[in-house]
Amino acid sequence: MGASLATARTDTPDPDGDAGEAVLSAYRDRIFYRLAIVAVILLPPFVVNAFLQKQFGIAFASLALVAVFAVDVIAIRRGAKPPVAPVVLIIPVALAVGVTIMRQGVIGALWAYPAVMLFQFVASRWVANMLNGLLVIMVTVLAYQYLGVSITIRVLVTLVLTMIFTNIFLGIVLRLQERLRKLGITDALTGVYNRRQMDRAVGEAVERHKRYGASSSLLLIDIDYFKRVNDEFGHAAGDRVLRELAALMRRSLRKLDLVFRIGGEEFLVLLPDVKRAGAAEAAEKLRREVASADLHPGWKLTVSIGVGQLGPGEAREQWIRRIDRALYAAKDSGRDRVVVADVAGTGSR
Ligand code: GH3
Ligand code: MG
Ligand code: MG
Repeated sequence: MGASLATARTDTPDPDGDAGEAVLSAYRDRIFYRLAIVAVILLPPFVVNAFLQKQFGIAFASLALVAVFAVDVIAIRRGAKPPVAPVVLIIPVALAVGVTIMRQGVIGALWAYPAVMLFQFVASRWVANMLNGLLVIMVTVLAYQYLGVSITIRVLVTLVLTMIFTNIFLGIVLRLQERLRKLGITDALTGVYNRRQMDRAVGEAVERHKRYGASSSLLLIDIDYFKRVNDEFGHAAGDRVLRELAALMRRSLRKLDLVFRIGGEEFLVLLPDVKRAGAAEAAEKLRREVASADLHPGWKLTVSIGVGQLGPGEAREQWIRRIDRALYAAKDSGRDRVVVADVAGTGSR
């Protein structure tokens, strides 16, 4: 995973499951809330049964568990943090499972299965796996003492399988979630960031400038006579050119530069903390590389580029308009060239 984000930035370390993990953690309270409600509804009959059977150890352990779940449910309902962190629940859960194994035999081990799932969903992945590992060890030791070897082996194997399957399932959920997140921020054809991300990133660059004085630059890139490529070779060939151009931009630009597809054959590049001269250099390099890249055989494909550094006190719209004018100046003066906007707004080569 992480491929499409890596293509959106010119080069990005693979974020893999971390972003998905972050999203999941935002849902944890809600997941826990639902699991806890189910527990509060399902457990009391067993508590009552334990009291009736005079199995007071089990009765009190499971009653404590129900109480903790209930207290947390009420807190979450009121919008407060659960007073007993879901992870801490491992203690009463392990206690209840352990006492039940000692008093009721194999029936006790059955409770370890929903417990494993509970922790997988309420704790971060490796914490859950550690806690569950401890739970499985405890259950195995007790099963060996109270239930004999043959049951112990089966309990151990099925618990470990439950852990593995839950991990696989969660992994798939995290990966799907990560893919959805990327679909929302990238352009489907080229894999670079989409227009919505541009609005956000450019807005952030303006804010950074206001707050820290760091100035960034933009390149506005438009393919020359692209309509003719489509007319002559077909739309599919045009699409291929767009993909290859996006790939070339990623290779040509630097790690921190952000590439956005903002229109049919128009791209915008944000160069964070790069001033006018550096941006002009990057643009000229890119222009040269496109012209010599042979992106479509039998056609000399070129781009025109408008360049501009964010001016003091300039708003996002003004900045982009200024670069747009520079791009048009590049088109007007014959295409296949770079025009750098000066702060006054008139373009100069
Ligand atoms: P100029 O040098 O003035 O930019 O000429 P141009 O032909 O590139 O400019 P114009 O804006 O007139 O045409 C842009 C063309 O880009 C129109 C359309 O055929 C093509 N185009 C826009 N989006 C896509 C796309 O997603 N795929 C393909 N294949 N072509 C597209
Ligand atoms: Mg255009
Ligand atoms: Mg064009």
